Amino acid sequence: MRAIRRFTVRASLPESLAGLRALATNLRWTWHPPTRDLFASMDDELFRRVRDPLRMLLAVSPSRLAQLAGDEDFLARANAVTEDLERYLTEDRWYQQQQADGPAAIAYFCMEFGVHEALPNYSGGLGVLAGDHLKAASDLGVPMIGVGPLYRSGYFRQGLSLDGWQLEHYPVIDPNGLPLELLTDEAGSPVLVDVAMPGGRDLYAQVWQAHVGRVPLLLLDTDVDANDEDLRRVTDRLYGGDADHRIRQEILAGIGGMRAVRRYCELMGHPQPEVFHTNEGHAGFLGLERTREIITEHGLGFDEVLSAVRAGTVFTTHTPVPAGIDRFPVDLVQHYFGDGRLLPGIETRRVLALGAEDNPGMFNMAHMGLRLAQRANGVSQLHGRVSRRMFARLWSGFDEDEVPITSVTNGVHGPTWVARELTALLGGKHKAWGHNGQLPSQQGVSDEELWALRRDLRQKLVAEVRRRVRDSWLQRGASALELGWITTVFDPDVLTVGFARRVPTYKRLTLMLRDPERLRALLLDEDRPIQIVVAGKSHPADEGGKQLIQQIVRFADDAAIRRHLVFLPDYDMSMARYLYRGCDVWLNNPTRPLEACGTSGMKSALNGGLNLSIRDGWWDECYDGSNGWAIPTADGIRDPLRRDELESAALYDLLGQQVAPLFYDRDERGVAAGWMSMVWHTLDTLGPRVQASRMVREYVETCYHPAATAVEAAVRNSFAGARSLSDYRKRIDTVWPQVKIFDSELTADGLVVGSEVRVEARVELAGLDASEVDVQAVVGRVGDTDELSEPVTVPMHPAGGGLFTATLRLPHAGSIGYTVRVLPRHPLLATPAELGKVVLAS
Ligand SMILES: *Cc1c(COP(=O)(O)O)cnc(C)c1O
Repeated sequence: MRAIRRFTVRASLPESLAGLRALATNLRWTWHPPTRDLFASMDDELFRRVRDPLRMLLAVSPSRLAQLAGDEDFLARANAVTEDLERYLTEDRWYQQQQADGPAAIAYFCMEFGVHEALPNYSGGLGVLAGDHLKAASDLGVPMIGVGPLYRSGYFRQGLSLDGWQLEHYPVIDPNGLPLELLTDEAGSPVLVDVAMPGGRDLYAQVWQAHVGRVPLLLLDTDVDANDEDLRRVTDRLYGGDADHRIRQEILAGIGGMRAVRRYCELMGHPQPEVFHTNEGHAGFLGLERTREIITEHGLGFDEVLSAVRAGTVFTTHTPVPAGIDRFPVDLVQHYFGDGRLLPGIETRRVLALGAEDNPGMFNMAHMGLRLAQRANGVSQLHGRVSRRMFARLWSGFDEDEVPITSVTNGVHGPTWVARELTALLGGKHKAWGHNGQLPSQQGVSDEELWALRRDLRQKLVAEVRRRVRDSWLQRGASALELGWITTVFDPDVLTVGFARRVPTYKRLTLMLRDPERLRALLLDEDRPIQIVVAGKSHPADEGGKQLIQQIVRFADDAAIRRHLVFLPDYDMSMARYLYRGCDVWLNNPTRPLEACGTSGMKSALNGGLNLSIRDGWWDECYDGSNGWAIPTADGIRDPLRRDELESAALYDLLGQQVAPLFYDRDERGVAAGWMSMVWHTLDTLGPRVQASRMVREYVETCYHPAATAVEAAVRNSFAGARSLSDYRKRIDTVWPQVKIFDSELTADGLVVGSEVRVEARVELAGLDASEVDVQAVVGRVGDTDELSEPVTVPMHPAGGGLFTATLRLPHAGSIGYTVRVLPRHPLLATPAELGKVVLAS
């Protein structure tokens, strides 16, 4: 019989154990081993199965609960953990100890959040990054509020058919059984936020709240009675459905998300956010909702408000490929915004203009993100450069280097990802290193100890691999009788390579299969064998990705290979943890530069794994020659097959000639000393750099703080700053075409490096005051084209009568060129390139 409806009944806890509920519902337990230990001690065996304190409370027998309620020792430990949590939630942390006042709150919007597998609301890297961002913000005391949708079926769960084809299923989750609380109003009724839909309908969402340490995470759920049937399904799945489904989700995330944050802050007495972080373009409509709010409350015009909204918005782009950008047909946007009910007071043409791109039929969410945010960034240095190039057309006339998109390299939450055994060995109990100022290698731990610990982690991975391979074969239809061989899958003493990630083409899941004979030889080498664990999900609509998975699975199904290379279905955080901790080598071979950052390799590095990777994303800036290996890239070769051939050959060479020999080169202690020195070096140098705490501090210092200052400057005195900037912008728009540079001239006494030269030019300012522009002389090298490279820029000063002059010293020898340019200047501009306006001498 099938149930027609399901619901979750809460456990009733004895009075003395009531405090356990708070411990179980605050997700800090996911990175706080003592909390997990406490729940495990209620029933070890059971906890190993349920792995989640909240489910534990439901699963423990009433008799055991009764027993624990009178167990002084247990109660004392529960008390200690509760007090620890209380302290963690209330004490001053890094943010409170800063000199300058930061924003009172920051709202962080993302379409997915991967905090833990107990809250399956993510598909991969973006979500896990968002989860790590919130956790690190919590640890640092940054007053952040996370916002996004809650999907009733999360992303899909992956299985395999007998012939290796990806199967998808979508278990329905019941939020009542998750570590979530419904946001209710003063009267105790669930809060509903709503956004207008075409045809006079409304889309309602209730708001679930997760506690990620100190950070509330608000999740919007449309599966409520108030909605029409089709609207109930808006938050059914992550990244499922067509463009119409997606735009509804994004309208809900951005506009509904803003309304949820407002309501939450009112009800909780929480300060309203001053800064809004759009993590990837999907939630970009939030900027429009804030525009609407200010227009409604303060009666300003759209342009004036835009300056204030931009000041407080930070936009992070994660996509280095134009094809990866989220876009909608303009007609669809028109359909949702056109009747004016969704955002009263905002004309649809203004909305459409924000998402305009080259193709007049498409609305571009990344362009809107950039136009609604005064600060924008990519997620690694290389990705910053790629993004500046990719979006350069929005700032035409500027060099790519000047495009106002910076970078903040991603990081990962150490306390979540580092094996606790390793944390314990290295001393910094429950803390990510980098905090106590001591390098792991200085903590008096020997090579042998760390080597033994790494073996222990590898052994745990091997056990997990066997368990999962067995489950997978049973699910594919094998009988237990034919699975005896699984007890010999993998060997805890063999060099273990991990490769796990989503399966878009650019990540090249099957690069290792390019020459199957060479791979086979590496796996089966008698003296220096290698074993490889592979995992990854393909987007359900991506047939090509599923074919790649099938190729790997078929290769792994071969009886000669299956004990040495495995594909584990259903890659998620629960599996990832074992992989990052147990693999000796973390392999990554994307087509450069299509990996924006990548974070799995960081998690491996934190556990003493060595990266073997194409120099893409984070590895491009972090590889130093002795913390792992760089697979040479055949950049510039256009034929993808040829490129794969060259890069895979380099990969086999590295594995066979450098990686394996180093791993198997043992000294009299049985330790691979050369290997261990690379491991120590990795822990020492990458350990602090790849932490999410480093990332969040960088966001605070370079984005949130300046944004809060800019907002303050824009809104002070009834939006005087915003009005002034908007007036200025309007004037620039009209007069700019008349601004011209004449008679520019460079005079020099001598032409050697360092000699002083004088640049002058006459500028027609078209009614602007000299203080309202920056006139600059730019000197740099010139090659075959007259393009200036390594430019040096100096300000030119007005000398009366429209003349501007500057003196400077020649910076380079060789062929030198110069030019003069005029840029807008206003105190509220974050960079001179911001308005995308420049006049160059001709
Ligand atoms: C870290 C992580 C990712 C992201 O890995 P990439 O290196 O960016 O591909 C994906 N999925 C899970 C479960 C993760 O933990």
